[in-house]
Amino acid sequence: AGLVIAMDGPSGSGKSSASRGVARALGLRYLDTGAQYRAMTWWMLRQGVDLADQAAVAARSGEPEIVSGTDPDAPSIQVDGVDVGEPIRQDEVTSAVSAVAAVPQVRARLVALQQEIVGTGDIVVEGRDIGSVVAPDAPVKIYLTASAEARAQRRSAELTGTTARAQQAAMARRDTLDSTRKTDPLSLADGAIELDTTALNLEEVIAEVLRLVKE
Ligand code: C5P
Repeated sequence: AGLVIAMDGPSGSGKSSASRGVARALGLRYLDTGAQYRAMTWWMLRQGVDLADQAAVAARSGEPEIVSGTDPDAPSIQVDGVDVGEPIRQDEVTSAVSAVAAVPQVRARLVALQQEIVGTGDIVVEGRDIGSVVAPDAPVKIYLTASAEARAQRRSAELTGTTARAQQAAMARRDTLDSTRKTDPLSLADGAIELDTTALNLEEVIAEVLRLVKE
């Protein structure tokens, strides 16, 4: 089986840019599992499902057809044939996604989909539970961290119209929800190497991951 690189960590740790850069450098595919949880959330909101009602979310979680493109130069995500790359980044989805991702039936469905894509390997997979649940046998597992300030700054540099302070509060709330949920919370997986990116730029993070892959 081909190489699988698991990249986990909280929001704003630089996972996406680093994962894409590593995939590009090594000629591997790239899978953004967060985009799948966002796509599921976007669909639930659009269907008017009450996201506070876990049983309702669970009951509908098998319905949307979610398709991920794995080209690191042009990652894509579709729900029922509709490209949702842009709408899944909106605040409405971002603030609701942790609640949807906490529902076990949602996770079971998306983990199965992810494992199917990871299949034969040759892929960099980013998320929260890749090294622990999706690909526990991955030969390379990286856990990216960064200070809360650095993470909030990176996010507000990407987004417009939101202050760094409001970003930091929203992100802290999402990270707390992601780290304390009952099913597969964000945590350091067995065998994962922690990489603090606070003082590193993107090129340095990619170089460090490539060095760890060669080891
Ligand atoms: O990575 P991103 O910030 O886009 O992920 C959005 C949300 O999806 C996270 O806040 C988390 O609730 C959920 N997620 C997850 N497990 C993953 C990837 C993302 O629970 N493997």
